[in-house]
Amino acid sequence: MALMIRSSAIHAAGCYTTTAIRKGARVAEYTGHLMSKEEADHRYEESPITYLFGLGDGSMVIDGHAMSMFINHSCQANCETEEIDGRVWITAIRNIAPGEEITYDYCLYDGGDDEAICNCGTKKCRGTMYSPQEVRNREASARKAVKKRNNKTRRKPRSVSKR
Ligand SMILES: [Zn+2]
Repeated sequence: MALMIRSSAIHAAGCYTTTAIRKGARVAEYTGHLMSKEEADHRYEESPITYLFGLGDGSMVIDGHAMSMFINHSCQANCETEEIDGRVWITAIRNIAPGEEITYDYCLYDGGDDEAICNCGTKKCRGTMYSPQEVRNREASARKAVKKRNNKTRRKPRSVSKR
């Protein structure tokens, strides 16, 4: 198996395979510096781009480097990630042909105001790199915000009619 980095239609640079990969094969390891989520939040407070991978309950993260950090997100990816004994493997979920870009679903969470817009262009694109659960959470909090705004708006005519 041989991976290479070159420019990608999805985002900036991507990771491509030059050889065929069988379903179930480990394509790469998500390697990097292991640190606490707290330390990462502090270190990347002002940074729009991070390569953090949350482990277990999310209290520890891998700050990705090398090959793994170039693998792009896709909503219809050809790989998935597996955490085994604190190490993260990017594993093929279908056979991958030579020349294909390696992708996995980032399932982002904890993104604050960032929309994390997805450009994967697949039929199943969610439009965002957030996980389906995180999308629901964010929609729920957005609805609450809209409700508050609607309440405020509705009070106006009443106060007008009193005058
Ligand atoms: Zn997408």
